[in-house]
Amino acid sequence: MSALAVAPTAGGAGRPRLEVDLAAVAANTRLIAGRTAAELMAVVKADGFGHGAAAVARTALAHGATSLGVTSIEEALVLRSDGLTAPVLSWLNPVDAAYADALRAEVDIAVPSREHLDAVVRAQRGGPHQRSARVHLHLDTGMARDGAEPSAWAALCRAARRAERAGLVRVVGVMGHLGCADDPADECNVLGRRRFGWGVEVARGAGLRPARRHLAATAATLLDVRSHHTLVRVGAGLVGIDPTGTTPLRSGLTLTAPVVSVRRVRAGSGVGYGHAWTAPAATTLALLPLGYADGLPRAASGRAEVMLRGRRRAVVGRLSMDQAVVDLGDDHAEPGDVATVLGPGDAGEPTVADWADWADTLPHEVVTGIGPRVLRTTRPAEPGPAVPVPAPSAVPTVLRSLP
Ligand SMILES: *Cc1c(COP(=O)(O)O)cnc(C)c1O
Repeated sequence: MSALAVAPTAGGAGRPRLEVDLAAVAANTRLIAGRTAAELMAVVKADGFGHGAAAVARTALAHGATSLGVTSIEEALVLRSDGLTAPVLSWLNPVDAAYADALRAEVDIAVPSREHLDAVVRAQRGGPHQRSARVHLHLDTGMARDGAEPSAWAALCRAARRAERAGLVRVVGVMGHLGCADDPADECNVLGRRRFGWGVEVARGAGLRPARRHLAATAATLLDVRSHHTLVRVGAGLVGIDPTGTTPLRSGLTLTAPVVSVRRVRAGSGVGYGHAWTAPAATTLALLPLGYADGLPRAASGRAEVMLRGRRRAVVGRLSMDQAVVDLGDDHAEPGDVATVLGPGDAGEPTVADWADWADTLPHEVVTGIGPRVLRTTRPAEPGPAVPVPAPSAVPTVLRSLP
């Protein structure tokens, strides 16, 4: 080997790639749907936790989910423009959000305040829409985050009932969210469940008949059947993240990167910014063309590993924006060899959970952080060829192509 061997440029092959195996999403969906008598809403916010919102949505709907959930109206409209016709709930929007667009696209809206209710009612009055706006009243069940405060709940329910009587809205659901569901012993769950039960009673007392009553996300779905009510909202679990450590879910992500160059360095050579790592002995280093802009958390510097030439290898020095350096010791690699940065773990490669540990963060942050330069391919749940899909671009604020 010369001092610096460089990979030939090749179309497509020379890029970091993320393969999404939808068979894992299908298996996780079936497993989770089998754990509850409630309906399963597939939460596909943040581009389906980085897995492709439409692909995860379609797969989940084919394997046991009956509706979809997202954060913003814009995310819901993207699903509609991708041809998904299942019920979609959008639960977090400012008061000046595109409610008219949402109603036109038959998107259900979560309502956390009178101001939000008024905005939805105005959009419905502004019609013409075929039917009354479908809303889920959102109660804060103890996180001091989204949802109405208990002190405002009764008035919100009464106002919603008046709008219902006027034929403007239909309250089809009541929702809450638990902040500590991954720790079932935490008192916060008791309070959350109690407050949710109270919220449903108050809604009924106001004359509302919400058929969809939902409190549980992945952790509560897996650990606490008392929180299931008539619907559970599951996102992380569908993509193989188990915040409870109790359930054999499977990750469908494999992130690979080609070796760009290989060099031999002397003992004492400093590597990368700040020379955060210095070779203790002569060694061989391989360069991978991805870094924190591509989703490798910089906080994992000094701990991370990749799989290359059949073995785990340390990533040395600081992770850069675009580059990672792998220590091969006295082993050899060729430019063009492919490193597995993360995968399901079947062949000993690092997993999403490993990267999260190394960076002292959550798997959720790792999967939603994979950057737009990474080439995405999706393997369907049914046997078939992998098909390239475009990298997610910025979500459009308004989708003018909607009918
Ligand atoms: C993200 C989210 C969910 C899904 O949570 P997971 O733990 O990923 O299943 C459910 N409900 C709300 C309100 C959320 O924001």
